[in-house]
Amino acid sequence: MARRRQIYEGKAKIIFEGPEPGTVVQYFKDDATAGNGAKSGVITGKGVLNNRISEYLMLRLGEMGIPTHFIRSLNMREQLVREVEIIPLEVVVRNVVAGSLSKRFGLPEGERLPRTLVEYYYKNDALNDPLISEEHIVTFGWAHPQELEEIQSLALRVNDFLCGLFTGVGITLVDFKLEFGRLWQDDEMRIVLADEISPDNCRLWDSQTQEKMDKDRFRRDMGGVGEAYQEVARRLGILPENGQVETVSTEGMR
Ligand code: C5P
Repeated sequence: MARRRQIYEGKAKIIFEGPEPGTVVQYFKDDATAGNGAKSGVITGKGVLNNRISEYLMLRLGEMGIPTHFIRSLNMREQLVREVEIIPLEVVVRNVVAGSLSKRFGLPEGERLPRTLVEYYYKNDALNDPLISEEHIVTFGWAHPQELEEIQSLALRVNDFLCGLFTGVGITLVDFKLEFGRLWQDDEMRIVLADEISPDNCRLWDSQTQEKMDKDRFRRDMGGVGEAYQEVARRLGILPENGQVETVSTEGMR
């Protein structure tokens, strides 16, 4: 197949024009960045694993009635998805204190929250993805109130399902980030889950040992990043045949 036209290159993915109108191809890179690009490296095999993990989770969520952009996997690193208008929000769902929540409020990592917390960040690298309130979202017109209600309800349903799924394989879903898009079909618009769900944008801890099995291993220079992603895929029963992760190289600070 001839190489498709590149539409956009992000930190961990490239988006190409799809084979039919209304579709795009997501290519999963091995590149990893942290701190909004302050640190970068390559985790060999990450793209293959994230493509497979995200495909699996999106399909399972679809079976539960959560609308997603996912159409089908194309190969080890590419998936065909519906072209959507991305809503410029990073929707973070938290079950356990970690990361920026721990820093912002001086709370110890690992404390279970009394209720699930949904936070919104404005998706804007130049501004460092600032934490925002629902008021900002509506005031600046990033989403209508009804859309926001739908986004929150979908995010909580995704959380319920994924918590159960990961618990079943001995993993605690600490927190994760979702992105949503507007999908137009005829004159109707639907909010659908977009982007990816993988150890790049979830915090996953082994339920027994609390060992980190996600991108925090890269962010915190803990090593064993690829092996941890591989273990997540293995526990989900979806380890790709050629998803072997041989080496992990970090190019260091940029
Ligand atoms: O850093 P913080 O604690 O706010 O991250 C919360 C969750 O959102 C983590 O699972 C992290 O992997 C994810 N996240 C992300 N992309 C960002 C920021 C956070 O996937 N730009």
